[in-house]
Amino acid sequence: MGSPSFSLCVYCGSRPGVDTAFAKAALTVGQWIGERGGRLVYGGGRNGLMGLVADATLAAGGTVLGIIPQALVEREWAHTACTELVVVNTMHERKQRMADAADAFVALPGGIGTFEEFFEAWTWRQLGYHDKPVGLLNVAGYYDSLSAFLAQTVASGFMNDWQMDLIRVGCDPYHLLPALVQDAGLSPAARTELM
Ligand code: AMP
Repeated sequence: MGSPSFSLCVYCGSRPGVDTAFAKAALTVGQWIGERGGRLVYGGGRNGLMGLVADATLAAGGTVLGIIPQALVEREWAHTACTELVVVNTMHERKQRMADAADAFVALPGGIGTFEEFFEAWTWRQLGYHDKPVGLLNVAGYYDSLSAFLAQTVASGFMNDWQMDLIRVGCDPYHLLPALVQDAGLSPAARTELM
């Protein structure tokens, strides 16, 4: 297998959520990555949307790098089918290695773990620790209230428009994912293939 055309870090729930649209979106994202010869970088679990996105990536011919702390190997059911499963000592190491391995980040619906990872990728970009695109996939309106709240933080004077401009929010994976990968600065040839 050749080297992946891009690496997309996906943050998402370790649970499936109650709306079947969430699982459908996770499968779509995995399939999109796999069909384009990409690599999924994620938390390495088998549960919930995390497991679905990994399975869909592999089924579509992509590669999967899972990075999981030792303490979570049993709790999150480490996904042994990953192309590469890296077991690290701490959560900090997990996040750093995921960030280093990715060309871009996208968050799907999830819980506090997903929120933490998304906000960290965003704040790290704001601080200049990286300059990789960060996206939020708003599946079935799941992030509507978060989007409204973020707009309120700007209106309240705690954020600027340029900070909001550091993330892309979209509800259609077929628009959001190519935009993120293109923003990551791949070569023009690779960009065309991704569309
Ligand atoms: P959740 O969205 O809560 O279902 O969690 C999704 C993923 O985020 C899981 O792999 C969790 O291990 C991970 N996670 C939970 N807490 C944190 C944290 N503080 N930093 C980074 N990832 C976390």
